[in-house]
Amino acid sequence: MQLRPVKTPVLAAVFVAALLLLAGCGRSTVHEAEFYVFGTMVQVSIAGASEELSNQAFALLQGRFQKMHRDWHAWEPSQLTAINAAFAAGKPIKVDAEMLELIRLSQQAEKQTGGRFNPAIGELIGLWGFHTSNFPMHGPVPNGEQLATLVARHPSTSDIELTPDGLYSRNAAVQLDFGGIAKGFTLDIAGAELRRLGVQNAIVNAGGDLRADGTQGSRPWRIAIKNPLGGVLGALEIRADESVFTSGNYERYLETANNERYAHIIEPATGRPAREVMSATVVGKDGWLADAAATAFVVAGLSAWSDLAHALDIKMVLLTDASGQIYATPEMLERVELTGDRQAIVLSHEK
Ligand code: ADP
Ligand code: MG
Repeated sequence: MQLRPVKTPVLAAVFVAALLLLAGCGRSTVHEAEFYVFGTMVQVSIAGASEELSNQAFALLQGRFQKMHRDWHAWEPSQLTAINAAFAAGKPIKVDAEMLELIRLSQQAEKQTGGRFNPAIGELIGLWGFHTSNFPMHGPVPNGEQLATLVARHPSTSDIELTPDGLYSRNAAVQLDFGGIAKGFTLDIAGAELRRLGVQNAIVNAGGDLRADGTQGSRPWRIAIKNPLGGVLGALEIRADESVFTSGNYERYLETANNERYAHIIEPATGRPAREVMSATVVGKDGWLADAAATAFVVAGLSAWSDLAHALDIKMVLLTDASGQIYATPEMLERVELTGDRQAIVLSHEK
């Protein structure tokens, strides 16, 4: 990896957020709707379609998002908690086609990220107390022996197989948690649903993680990059059929009595939170892969980001470290219009 500082205005912290509405020519009418699901506000914007078609699309998407939220919840009774109970008991279980597809993609993502993204570590995530909606959490760090025992059981999605009686895990330690991929998979489905309805230009923004189709009139979609400390820091141009995902340590974490913070992204190899990279933003075609990749980049850290980018064939990556320093690939910097005057470090693909 080569780190090369350049004079580029950068962000203090990156959080892709609300749409940046641009004044001027080339814009067509945009219909918007918002609903709350997945613990976040989902904002749907549709350009160049009738109000009737837009409303039809909003209703359809809201229903789909709610179904997925119910089916895949990792700690409230859901299809997923039933699967985890069956795995722990060594029993097979029948699941629906969407769940099978999500598990298949999860297996692929685990393999492609060299196990840095591993949605089979649900028990570890639960042990840290991250199965909650109330962040930041307060409490002690889990017992080291308990963590080591769980890591040594090597839960992996490759332990899961489809038998004539249903889904079965050869390893009882496998507990699925789709917190790092479900949103991406959902946005892919949302994109397919919109296309099926005949909506060609849309952005679906789920709390800063989003997917775009088409354009906004004659211009590409642009999204604002929000500073989590307040204000807008820059803009990112999004092409058709692209997803933008950010995994971050700044919102969801455990704080101990002596003010130490432990983030909700766990390094599967150690069972402990990743510390070096504070946030990772990835732009890619498939939402499920961009989502899983963003999580994996946080785990990979600054020394392994390049191996991971090669393995995933992802070109547009932006990372921030604990000091607030920004690192980005040249492809990412080309598309980001940043404000401020700090220095970015270019992540070169050369090794
Ligand atoms: P965010 O919630 O900020 O969008 P992510 O997409 O990275 O961030 O999702 C984080 C969630 O993924 C965690 O809350 C947890 O449920 C799950 N998770 C944590 N570590 C891993 C990991 N190494 N692999 C797969 N999933 C993980
Ligand atoms: Mg993710």
